[in-house]
Amino acid sequence: MADRPKRYIVVGNGVAGTTCAETLRKNDPTCQVTLIGNEPYPLYNRVALPPYLKGRTPEQKVLLRTVAQHAERGITLMLETTVTQVNSEGKTVLLDNGAELPYDALLVATGGRPNHLKVPGADGTAGIYNFQYFDDAKAIHAHMEHAQTAVVVGGSFIAYELAEAFRHHGLRTIWLIRGPYWLRRVLDEDGGALVDDIARDAGVEVYYGEEVREVHAQGGAVCGVTTKTGKTFEADMIGVGLGLTMNTELLAGTPVKIGNGILADEHLSTNVPDIYTAGDIAQFHDVVIQRYNQLGTWGNAQGHGRVAALNMLGQQTIYEDVPMYSSTLFDSYIRVIGLTPELYPDLESLERLDARGRNYQRLFFLDNRLVGAVLIGDMRLRARIFSLIKGREAIAPDERRKLLEG
Ligand SMILES: Cc1cc2nc3c(=O)[nH]c(=O)nc-3n(C[C@H](O)[C@H](O)[C@H](O)COP(=O)(O)OP(=O)(O)OC[C@H]3O[C@@H](n4cnc5c(N)ncnc54)[C@H](O)[C@@H]3O)c2cc1C
Repeated sequence: MADRPKRYIVVGNGVAGTTCAETLRKNDPTCQVTLIGNEPYPLYNRVALPPYLKGRTPEQKVLLRTVAQHAERGITLMLETTVTQVNSEGKTVLLDNGAELPYDALLVATGGRPNHLKVPGADGTAGIYNFQYFDDAKAIHAHMEHAQTAVVVGGSFIAYELAEAFRHHGLRTIWLIRGPYWLRRVLDEDGGALVDDIARDAGVEVYYGEEVREVHAQGGAVCGVTTKTGKTFEADMIGVGLGLTMNTELLAGTPVKIGNGILADEHLSTNVPDIYTAGDIAQFHDVVIQRYNQLGTWGNAQGHGRVAALNMLGQQTIYEDVPMYSSTLFDSYIRVIGLTPELYPDLESLERLDARGRNYQRLFFLDNRLVGAVLIGDMRLRARIFSLIKGREAIAPDERRKLLEG
């Protein structure tokens, strides 16, 4: 190769992309790093958006970087710019402004976009919100100030965050969940019943087996919904938590293998030389569980960004971590650790419920090894779970119950 600085392009300036760009710069002061994102902000903290909605985190604290900081570090930041196509043969990316940029190594860290509520009456109606971007959070925040009643749709973490924010602002909150309980692929019936108790105590009206059939509008703005079973609710606003669609379109026409996300090995390298992936969009070979895994956590995206950068610089670093997602659950707390049936539905599981104390633990096993867990309330098992997952030792069936007994 010619003796010139290496050209790195990073697509997506979320935590995965920004961490990658900064790691590249730190380890190779002479390289060219271009970080391209289609939102109007430098890196901000998505994890801080729920406390921002509740008025607990001010706008300045949500933003984690400034444009000036990127310039000082020598990272070329292009905001409000979409990469429309990767040309893996010519090693270039095409931008929506028509420009074409060459790369020596490329990271695709484009995450997912939220699924919209697609029912009659929803399209073009004001007052229906997804909750993924800072701009979503700002719009929801402004609307909540003068709303009385909200409907939440979906059984995801995002739906929970919306229900909590609406209640926090004193809105009557109706939560419609299609499945038999919240997080139906992760909890069992007992866990679902416990969350139901916790949500109802917080004043949320929860309906299961329910989906919106139609949105009603007045003057172009939401005024209510009718469900598939025929129930009608008034609503000034609707919060939607119906999952994500991965932003893989820019790789269409390339040989890069796509599954539910972008397929990658334990180095976060795709099947095409010099193309790497990281964060929510990476469906990577997880050495801890010896399977493909895909995670939607901040810590994982940050770790991926760092490891992908080291490998783009020529190292052979393996990504090895046990991911964890923790969240408030109204006045309780939930932690999801490692692998869950969300991705591998036939994991074996073992549960324990303490209904009086409002504590719940569920462990997930694969090939006789502990691979994941969910804890509600009491978190004392956490450290033991991490060490067993990392240890990868077989746990005999009669030993498993003892784990839950402490
Ligand atoms: C409301 C909310 C609360 C959360 N709470 C928690 C929590 O408590 N704990 C936790 O661990 N995780 C939480 N998460 C998840 C966590 O924030 C994500 O896992 C993490 O931010 C993913 O980072 P990423 O860099 O992979 O992707 P993203 O942050 O999604 O960044 C990808 C960026 O790429 C942009 N992009 C997409 N396509 C293109 C393109 N073609 N060209 C240019 N740019 C493009 C996107 O617009 C986006 O800006 C939460 C998420 C949300 C939305």
